[in-house]
Amino acid sequence: MHPDEIYDVVVVGAGPAGTTAAMYAAQSGASVLLVDRKRDIGVPLQCGGFMPHADTLQELVPNAHLPHTLLDYPKSCVHATSTYQRFIAPDGYSKGFEVAADSLDRRRFDRHLASRAAEEGAELMVGTNVTDVNGNTIEVDGVWTINNQGQSPDRCRRSKFYCCKSPRYETGT
Ligand SMILES: Cc1cc2nc3c(=O)[nH]c(=O)nc-3n(C[C@H](O)[C@H](O)[C@H](O)COP(=O)(O)OP(=O)(O)OC[C@H]3O[C@@H](n4cnc5c(N)ncnc54)[C@H](O)[C@@H]3O)c2cc1C
Repeated sequence: MHPDEIYDVVVVGAGPAGTTAAMYAAQSGASVLLVDRKRDIGVPLQCGGFMPHADTLQELVPNAHLPHTLLDYPKSCVHATSTYQRFIAPDGYSKGFEVAADSLDRRRFDRHLASRAAEEGAELMVGTNVTDVNGNTIEVDGVWTINNQGQSPDRCRRSKFYCCKSPRYETGT
């Protein structure tokens, strides 16, 4: 990969939204660059991982076409499955309700989604901060890596990397 390469789609942020968007874009034939400033996808953990099961999710947003990434994920991403949840506020107020849900390991889930995007052909750069978006050009800063199809971000991160200061990427029109 060269610093002046052009992509159909550049996705900033490899959280669930970004990785899912990158996966679908790559699946439909676009050349995709997925960038995240985190060196380790999903770290630090900033989520409780509460994920209602598919039918409940669909009930909450009846008109939404849910991405299959929310409905179908490996068992290895699931800490526990429960039928009852209780939320406790910092002031001690709590509310419980019955709901079939998984408690996800967000670190594994996010990595799984990033791997799915890479399997579809998206290129992933980690440890790469997007510092500016100007028209069709984004500016990035940091150590970035190449990650290609079917390999986990970690393995690829170690396989090859470049140190760059503010290379520029252009998106296609
Ligand atoms: C404490 C806490 C608990 C939560 N618990 C739950 C829960 O139990 N269940 C639930 O459904 N949701 C929960 N959430 C919400 C859930 O985490 C978010 O809704 C979800 O992560 C949003 O996904 P996202 O892909 O939109 O953004 P994020 O997951 O925030 O991903 C955005 C990514 O963009 C990257 N990024 C940002 N700026 C740049 C930049 N300039 N350059 C490069 N990369 C950049 C970040 O590093 C990050 O990886 C919780 C949130 C918090 C904070």
